[in-house]
Amino acid sequence: MKKQLLSALALIAALAAHAQDAPELSAAQRNAFASCLRRLPQEAAFRPISAATFEQHMTGMEPDASVLAMLDKQPEFTMHPWDYIAMLVDDERVADARAALAKWGEVLARIEARYGVPAHIVVAVWGVESNFGQNLGARPLMRSLATLACLGRRQSYFRGELAAALRIVQDGHIPAERMTGSWAGAFGQTQFMPGTFLRLAVDFDGDGRRDIVDSVPDALASTARFLQAAKWQSGQPWGFEVRLPAGFDTSGAGRRNKRRMESWRAAGVTLADGSPLPSDLPQAGLLLPAGPGGPAFLVGRNFDAIYSYNASENYALAIAHLSDLARSRSLSTAFATPWPTDDPGLSRSQRRQLQSMLIMRGHDIGAADGAIGEKTRAAIRAEQQRLGHTVDGRPGQRILRALQTE
Ligand code: CA
Repeated sequence: MKKQLLSALALIAALAAHAQDAPELSAAQRNAFASCLRRLPQEAAFRPISAATFEQHMTGMEPDASVLAMLDKQPEFTMHPWDYIAMLVDDERVADARAALAKWGEVLARIEARYGVPAHIVVAVWGVESNFGQNLGARPLMRSLATLACLGRRQSYFRGELAAALRIVQDGHIPAERMTGSWAGAFGQTQFMPGTFLRLAVDFDGDGRRDIVDSVPDALASTARFLQAAKWQSGQPWGFEVRLPAGFDTSGAGRRNKRRMESWRAAGVTLADGSPLPSDLPQAGLLLPAGPGGPAFLVGRNFDAIYSYNASENYALAIAHLSDLARSRSLSTAFATPWPTDDPGLSRSQRRQLQSMLIMRGHDIGAADGAIGEKTRAAIRAEQQRLGHTVDGRPGQRILRALQTE
């Protein structure tokens, strides 16, 4: 669970802002880091690590202050589910998921045969975790983990992760220079923590190495193995979007509050198009990501398995939704019931368009890279002020259209 919480935090932080200029470390912190590094080899977690391995990768190691800044950074705002889903499940990612299904179909079929997790689910996790292997994270993993292992909160957890990362390199699975990742230590195309790697990563291409960085078959199979270990139920859907009857009492909503499908049928719940609830899901909970006024979903055990990847219901819903779209021919990424907002979220390409228009208006926000940081938010606030909109700095359809039509 720790890994998943950290991954979620890493994602939120990455969405929230470009890394702030990290404060300098004090002399006391540098001394504490150095003496901690000297003591680490005596700790139980490091027993499997040879002195040679430890010296090779830790000698001369300097702490990374920016990693500590990320650990202590509080998310400045909570994203609406419609912003989060719009960004993670946009036309671009759906097209990429369909292409990935076609390209890796043979490997994915063998993975499904072995682990019982279908291709469209595995591909959707891949697309959300690392944009199909495009975003692995660039921070040197040993440096991030050594910093977290010796400074800041949760040192004991990160010592275990550092030892696991050294073990991966020592055992020859992944070369040290390929061990880069998020500030919190998630790495590879699956964004596993090193400890998760040791427990669950698999060698699927048969070269003897478990390489979730540079082997797509290893990465995809490791994702399937993770979901299998999270009790994936072969043959069951994750769930589906539903329609609630008028006046439905939603007080029993909740992913964990599962009821048998007959009970939902008896209460008048149908699929979103009005057809009867299918019988391939024995029980499900009612998920209302935006409350009773928005899209509604019945979600089963497999939704819980996806949730265990990152401990966020919106995250799990993004993967579930992307998986459905990947194997459909739908031209729309929208749910049947619209989000309860008159200002829906932006896709990644729309985020870049918005930034381009802010740059054209003279705002100094850096490149139009689709990452909405503090500078972009400040520029949005300035334009909202000028246009007489609500000033919240949020990148949505309203400000995009206003700037487009001006
Ligand atoms: Ca391999």
